[in-house]
Amino acid sequence: MSKKVNLVCPGCKKIVEIDSKFKPFCSKGCKSIDFLRWANEEVAIETSEDDTQD
Ligand SMILES: [Zn+2]
Repeated sequence: MSKKVNLVCPGCKKIVEIDSKFKPFCSKGCKSIDFLRWANEEVAIETSEDDTQD
């Protein structure tokens, strides 16, 4: 039995291949989308919009 673990892409919730170059993302696209979203959240904090969601 091999120790393969199915990862789920944080971007699109698809199963990520264990040997994906973009782990934990399924693709380069999801990786950059997630990064952009994260960056945007940082910007949103800068604008001090009182939007407390996690
Ligand atoms: Zn994805």
